[in-house]
Amino acid sequence: MGFKSIAIDGPAGAGKSTLARQVAAALGYLYVDTGAIYRTLGLAALRRGVDPQDGAAVVALLEDCAIDLRHGGDGMQRMYLNGEDVSQAIRLPEVSRYASGVSAIPEVRAHLMDMQRDLARRNDVVMDGRDIGTVVLPAADVKVFLTASPEERARRRWEELQQRGTPEAYEEVLKDLVERDAKDSGRAAAPLRRAEDAVEVDTTGCSLEESLERLLSVIRAGVLA
Ligand code: C5P
Repeated sequence: MGFKSIAIDGPAGAGKSTLARQVAAALGYLYVDTGAIYRTLGLAALRRGVDPQDGAAVVALLEDCAIDLRHGGDGMQRMYLNGEDVSQAIRLPEVSRYASGVSAIPEVRAHLMDMQRDLARRNDVVMDGRDIGTVVLPAADVKVFLTASPEERARRRWEELQQRGTPEAYEEVLKDLVERDAKDSGRAAAPLRRAEDAVEVDTTGCSLEESLERLLSVIRAGVLA
């Protein structure tokens, strides 16, 4: 028997990372946050003054920097850029925009996909992102498309930024989120979309506990099937 894999895709702020981490803990699987990988490259571009739309410059940057992903004993994923722990730095809103820019470049996606597939080859994983069920792990045991209304997703992201001590105005957060969704869904390379065999879970109006319960029941049914 090979390893099990669970793919969780969806738009920004749908609660993917919080829920996927809890699902992984409940099942004893490894949680892999693929957005963090794109964010790390986005941070590298931001720091080096590289235009995220400039494919050739971003590919050169990718070849020139070391992006590593490690899991600590607590199961938390940490990201390293040239040996520096950037797990906190990649969460800034400006880095989200850079991540979305660099992730639209096909060579970038191809390069970073190996890292993602390799983790699923060696571990039982819960992996979240935009194209996990469609491109990275098309044979995943369970695929979930997690959504919520844009207003609710913006409100959650706004709260999260507040708690992190990097507050932004709600209107700004909503605008950013809608723009990023449009960009992620409209790009040619691995756009954000629901895989045909994914179960859609809409968490609008659900508490975190309710969302987790719904997600776990979908996943348990799929893994045991
Ligand atoms: O999930 P998160 O918001 O951290 O992802 C940041 C950005 O990285 C997304 O807006 C998207 O452009 C990109 N991404 C992607 N494919 C993934 C995960 C993230 O293109 N599998």
